Amino acid sequence: MDFLKGRLAEQHAAGRHRQLQPLVERGGRLDFSSNDYLALSIHPEVVAAGREALTRYGAGVGAARLMSGNLALFHQLEEEVASLKECPASLVFGSGYLANVGIIPALVGRGDTVLTDRLDHASIYDGCRLSGARLWRFRHNDLNHLEELLRKSQDGGGRVLLAVESLYSMDGDIAPLPELVGLKERYSALLLVDEAHATGLYGRHGGGLVQEFGLADRVEVVIGTFGKALGCYGAYVAGSEILRDYLINRARSFIYSTGLPPAVIGAALAAVRLVRREPELRRRLAEQADYLKKCLIAEGLPGTPGPSQIIPIRVGESGQALELAEKCRQSGLLVTAVRPPTVPEGSARIRLSVTLHQKKPDLALAAGRLAAACRQLGLKPSF
Ligand code: PMP
Repeated sequence: MDFLKGRLAEQHAAGRHRQLQPLVERGGRLDFSSNDYLALSIHPEVVAAGREALTRYGAGVGAARLMSGNLALFHQLEEEVASLKECPASLVFGSGYLANVGIIPALVGRGDTVLTDRLDHASIYDGCRLSGARLWRFRHNDLNHLEELLRKSQDGGGRVLLAVESLYSMDGDIAPLPELVGLKERYSALLLVDEAHATGLYGRHGGGLVQEFGLADRVEVVIGTFGKALGCYGAYVAGSEILRDYLINRARSFIYSTGLPPAVIGAALAAVRLVRREPELRRRLAEQADYLKKCLIAEGLPGTPGPSQIIPIRVGESGQALELAEKCRQSGLLVTAVRPPTVPEGSARIRLSVTLHQKKPDLALAAGRLAAACRQLGLKPSF
C-alpha cells in the first residue's frame, strides 16, 4: 500500500490535499459553504414529514425499487416533481451523482458523441466516461465553440448528447439555455440539463431555469437533486413517460441500488410542495444574495455581481485560497476553498453560497470579515 502514501504526498505538494472538517454546529449563520439554500433541511414541515415517514415505513426499504423496495411514497414524489417541472413524468434516483452516472450511459454508448461544457460537474463527466461515447468538451458557455463541435459531430453517424448545467456550481453563472436549445434542435442532438443548483430557486413554480426560460417541453432530460435547495437527499430526472420507462429498464444506478429511505422521500415530498407554495422563499434568497454582493463591493472587493446565490471569490493559486479559507474560518466565517481539479488551473477560489440560514446583518458581517482576511494576507481577489 506504499503507493497510497506516494500519491497522497503528491496531493499535498500540489496544494490539493482534501480533509474532512468535523463541524460542531452545522447551518450556523456564518456558514457560507452549504447548498441548503432555502434552509429547508431544518424547516419544521420538512422535518415532520421525514419523521412521519420514518415512523410509518421504517428506516429503510430493504431492496431496490424493482424488487420489493417500491413504496407508494416514491410515486407521490415523482408525480409532485413532474408537476413542479411541468413535465409528463419523473423518476427518483439515489443522488445527483447516481443520476448522472446512470442516465448518461443509458442514453449514449460507443459510436455516439457527448458534448459537455468544460465546467460541468464531475458526475456528468464520469457518466460520459462510463458510457464509452466519444467525449468532447466545449469552452464554458461558448456557443461558437459548441457549434463547431456539433458540426464536427455530424460526421460520426451516432447519436449526439449535449449535457450542461443550468446554473454552474462553482461560477454561479447561468447557461444560455434558449440558444442551447436552438442549437441542439438545429443539429438533432439530445439535451440534458442538470438543474442541481437551480431547482427550487427559479421559474414560476420553483421548477428551475428550464422553467424560467419556458423550455420545459423542449429539453429531453432534466436532472436535479433534493440535496441542495430542497434540503434533503436524493435526485430526480424529469422528462417524458417514455424516458421514465426506459430509465427504469436501462439506468443501472437505478436498477441495482436500494431505494432511498422513507424518511428522505417523505421529507423531499414536503420540500417540493413547500417551494411551490412559497415563492417568497426564493425571492428572499435572491434579495439576500444581491445584498451580499453590494456589501462586498462596499468593502472594496472589485467585482461584477453575477446572477445567483453562488458567489465565487477568485484568488488564483490553491495555496492562497486555502490560506484565505483558513483565515476566514478563524474569524468564524465558514467558507470553502475550491481548487483544481474541481475548477480550472489558476482559478482557485472561495465559494460563497448564500442561504436563508443567514439574516441580513450576517451578510454585512461576512463581507467585512472576508475583506479583513484578504487585507491581512495581502490578497486582492475579485468576484
Ligand atoms: N450535479 C451537479 C451540477 C452538482 O453540483 C452536484 C452536487 N455537487 C451533483 C450533480 C451531485 O448531486 P448529489 O449531491 O445529489 O449527488
